[in-house]
Amino acid sequence: MIIDPRIIDFLSTKHKILITTHVRPDGDAIGSSLALMHFLRKKGHYVMLTFPSIFADYHKWFPGVEDALIYPHKKGSVETFLKNTDLIIAVDFNDLKRNADLGKYLAELEIPKLMIDHHPEPDTSFTYEVWSTKYCAAGEAVFDLINAIDETSLMDQTICTCLYAAIISDSGSFRYPSVTKRTFEIASKLLESGIEHSLIQREVYDNFSEKRLRFWGHCVTEKMEFIEEHKAAFISVSKEDFEKFKTKASDTENLVNFPMNIKDVIISVLLVEHDGFIKLSFRSKDEFPVNELAKKYFNGGGHLNAAGGESKSDMATAIQELRDGLKTL
Ligand code: 5GP
Ligand code: MN
Repeated sequence: MIIDPRIIDFLSTKHKILITTHVRPDGDAIGSSLALMHFLRKKGHYVMLTFPSIFADYHKWFPGVEDALIYPHKKGSVETFLKNTDLIIAVDFNDLKRNADLGKYLAELEIPKLMIDHHPEPDTSFTYEVWSTKYCAAGEAVFDLINAIDETSLMDQTICTCLYAAIISDSGSFRYPSVTKRTFEIASKLLESGIEHSLIQREVYDNFSEKRLRFWGHCVTEKMEFIEEHKAAFISVSKEDFEKFKTKASDTENLVNFPMNIKDVIISVLLVEHDGFIKLSFRSKDEFPVNELAKKYFNGGGHLNAAGGESKSDMATAIQELRDGLKTL
C-alpha cells in the first residue's frame, strides 16, 4: 500500500508520540503496537505505549510489553505525558470514541491522530491513516509503514518478532481467507531477520495452563450446542463456569475458533458473561457475514468472518436473540 507522504514527513523529525490499541488487546494489537514503539524509539522519538485495559497473562512474553502502561492503573502518568504530545497513534482499531475511557479521553484532545488498522468502517476524524481491510492483521499495516520510512535496517529481531506474532495471531497462523500473497512476502522478510518462527508460534498458541485446557474441555463438552439448520455452534460461558475452574474472561480468547474445527460447522458463536452484559464473538466460514449479525442485533461489527458485539440481556435471552437473528439472515 502507498503510505501517505505526510506521515513519512511527520515521522522524519523527532516527536513525542503516544501509541494505544483497542480494549482487551489481543496478539495483533500488542504485537503491532510494540513493534511500532520499538521502531519509533530507535528512530529517536519519545514514545509511550498505553493499553486501555489489562491484557492476558499469556501475552507477557512479548518483548517490551512491560513498558506499556495500563491506562486505568496509570491515568496520571498517561495524562501528564499527553500534555505536549505531538501525535496519537491508534493501532488495530479505528474509532476512539468506542474505545473505553482512554479512547473517549483521547478523542477530545486537539492532537494529530494516526490510525493504523484493518477493520471495516473506520471513523473519519483521524488526521492520517494507514488503513485497509486487505490487511489480515494490523501487523501488516505497521510493516508497510516501517518499510515506507525506508528503515528496514532498523527492523531488528525484536521488531520482527512482534510483527510476526501479530500476523499469526490474527491470521490463525496463515489459515484465514484474509491471508494474501503479500502476507507471505511480509512473513518471509520478517524471517530474514533471523527470528525463530517456531518459538513464536509456541508463545502465541501453545501457551495454555492446565486449568485453562480443562476449562476449554468443560466448555466444549458441557456448554456447546448445535443449531443443525444453520450449521452453527454456540458456546456460552457463565460466571459460575469461571468460578468452578478458577479462570477468567481472558481464558476464553480464541475459544470461539475451536468449534470451527468441526467439518460441518459454518458459524461459531461464543457468549461470555461479564458484569452487566454478555460479550459475543462470532466466526464463520465462506461468505456468511457474521459482522452483519453482530451489527444488526448486538451493537457490534467486525469482519465478514470474525466479528463481535454485546447484549445487555441475560444469557438465555441473548441465546434466543441469536437464534432469532440467524433466522433472518
Ligand atoms: P474477537 O472475537 O477476536 O474478540 O473479535 C473479532 C473481531 O470482531 C475484532 O477484530 C473486531 O473486528 C470485531 N469486534 C469484536 N468485538 C466487537 C465489538 O464489540 N464491536 C465491534 N464493532 N466490533 C467488534
Ligand atoms: Mn487485528
